[in-house]
Amino acid sequence: MTRKKQNYRGRFAPSPTGPLHFGSLVAAMGSYLDARSRGGAWLVRMEDLDTPREIPGAASDILQTLERFGFEWDGEVLYQSSRQEAYREALATLISDNAVFPCSCSRREVAEAGLQGMEGPRYSGKCRQQRMTKTHSGAVRVRTHQEQIQFKDRICKQISQNLELDIGDFIVRRADGLFAYQLAVVVDDAFQQVNQIVRGADLLCSTPRQIHLQQLLGLTTPEYAHLPLVLNDSGQKLSKKTGAFPVDKESPLPSLIAALEFLNQPLPNETPGSLSSFWEWAIAHWSLSPLVTQEK
Ligand code: GLU
Repeated sequence: MTRKKQNYRGRFAPSPTGPLHFGSLVAAMGSYLDARSRGGAWLVRMEDLDTPREIPGAASDILQTLERFGFEWDGEVLYQSSRQEAYREALATLISDNAVFPCSCSRREVAEAGLQGMEGPRYSGKCRQQRMTKTHSGAVRVRTHQEQIQFKDRICKQISQNLELDIGDFIVRRADGLFAYQLAVVVDDAFQQVNQIVRGADLLCSTPRQIHLQQLLGLTTPEYAHLPLVLNDSGQKLSKKTGAFPVDKESPLPSLIAALEFLNQPLPNETPGSLSSFWEWAIAHWSLSPLVTQEK
């Protein structure tokens, strides 16, 4: 029996920490063009989980900008703030499988232990033997192992990480009780049946953590493509912290063309007369090939 080929389901998952800037426009465009050029669905998920970092009004501002720029998403926007029950259930599964443990170490204690990982100080495993209790309300970490987690990124090719040595046991629920991005993203991608993830390369390093959680929760691993990052003049990723300007809502075409150029796509000979002719051109000419890094 041949397996039916799954329909493409992609998504854009912004965090409402500020208005849409050029870097997030590039991520939105890459995921949108890849989905639409393959006749796929494209969903928008608002990652409004980290309430302390959220800027009031940013979520609706991002959605309004996407609309003005001519992005058309399928279905309703999913808000992570409405998904607490699903994250609690996923955590309960991890607890009953003894895959997680409570951790009371502060950031400072982790740093003082002196272990380095790919993303800075690496947790030493100090609380690993602690057992979860029903009443524990603080931080929870997932146990990692000394195994290579490997996947083939559609752009960055073969990626391999030893989760325990490169990252260490990582947080799935924070000390302040909020669920961590790594857990929420995995639960929601599965819930929304997303099977193609196109996003910025700043998340490449997080992907093995997400694959580890998918394996622990019995979820399917999607295909990944990590787009090159837009950097500012000092080589930092564009973000609100690094002073990125919002894209101009009143004049979408120049930013759209600049984003298409950044993604190394062919440009139309003449400036398109409308948003719909821009998108028609961009969807018809989209290819990931110009972005693919050479295999070592
Ligand atoms: N919300 C994340 C961000 O804005 C992106 C998450 C993802 O694409 O997996 O950086």
